[in-house]
Amino acid sequence: MFENLQALPEDPILGLLAAFRADTATRKIDLGVGVYKDERGNTPVLKAVRAAEQAVLADQQTKTYLGPAGNEQFNALMTELVLGSKHTAVTSRRVRAMQAPGGCGALRLGAELLVTTGAKPTVHVSDPTWSNHGPLLSNAGLVLEKYPYFDARTGTVRFDAMLERLNALPAGDVVLLHGCCHNPTGADLSLDQWRKVADVLVQRRLVPYVDIAYQGLGEGIEADAEGARLIAATVPEALIAVSCSKNFGLYRERVGLLMVLTQSEAQTNASVSHVRKIARGIYSMPPDHGAAIVARILSDTKLTEDWRAELNAMRERMMKLRNAFSAALARTGKAEVAAAIANQRGMFSMLPLKPEAADTLREKHHIYMTRDGRINIAGIDQDLVDFLAESVASVL
Ligand code: PMP
Repeated sequence: MFENLQALPEDPILGLLAAFRADTATRKIDLGVGVYKDERGNTPVLKAVRAAEQAVLADQQTKTYLGPAGNEQFNALMTELVLGSKHTAVTSRRVRAMQAPGGCGALRLGAELLVTTGAKPTVHVSDPTWSNHGPLLSNAGLVLEKYPYFDARTGTVRFDAMLERLNALPAGDVVLLHGCCHNPTGADLSLDQWRKVADVLVQRRLVPYVDIAYQGLGEGIEADAEGARLIAATVPEALIAVSCSKNFGLYRERVGLLMVLTQSEAQTNASVSHVRKIARGIYSMPPDHGAAIVARILSDTKLTEDWRAELNAMRERMMKLRNAFSAALARTGKAEVAAAIANQRGMFSMLPLKPEAADTLREKHHIYMTRDGRINIAGIDQDLVDFLAESVASVL
């Protein structure tokens, strides 16, 4: 049976990482994989996470099953973190959350739920979008289409074109929106643009699917959730997939959740009963450890304060690197790209590079990035910003 299977090519990002590690040059920069890195290039365990983890281990009485919805305290605390306390979706009990194995698990659960409705909606994703949105949604059986989003030349959102497309979509279709820190471009909607999008969604009876994987790493914990909060307060139905991988640094623990918002408490409960069944049919129930850590942090004032401070420090470090790189690019005369990078937010920016230019950067300058020109801002070495900017300018 298995002799029919041919080996697949290696994942390009992991291949890039392996090539970077094998590169013996003393001056080299890795802007590939999308994880936060400190000034030494490490992705450390947050102190608040370590403290919460020790408390969880000390207090744990049992490891018996929790059920497909996972840790309900985690679900409630994360709903509050994303939507804010006293959000109308929460007080009207129209929203419920299910713990999921990472943001990916959440995205897949939501996709399976959309398929389960039998409505066969097309899901519209931004052009470009995170490369894993494709398989996560289409492997569930959904058809994906792209809406205009990023103007590579100016590095900004093609908002008029985006709105025009949304205005032409059939009722019942789904629109995937990045809550903040757009991956791969770093180009986010302003609050005013979120308002306009929310209005079109209501008028056209489109269903938003918000993916929020970087809350706290763009403008701040509250500001980064404003779009998702506005959507949840405006539309009758929505899905929100949340990841704790980046903002809690819990990547490998697989922590996330899916929030389901419908027109009534009864409909939400019915929908969530289907999500539970879907989870049972795939992995039964999510892993506990990471969610227990997050619940511990968010239920403890001191740990929450410590976590917020660490998250702020990560965000500020990336802003500093972003601004330094932008200023260095401006010094090379690339004013437009420099301005775009300064205005983008989060862990990524997308350089207007041809794939061959990314190859040149790697082969000639030992600068590693995916061939679409996406760069991980946290991978920038403060001491090498001028070298980076000059190398990039030479291939722009
Ligand atoms: N959505 C986006 C846009 C992401 O960039 C990521 C992480 N790379 C995720 C969701 C989910 O990540 P995870 O499954 O690790 O929580």
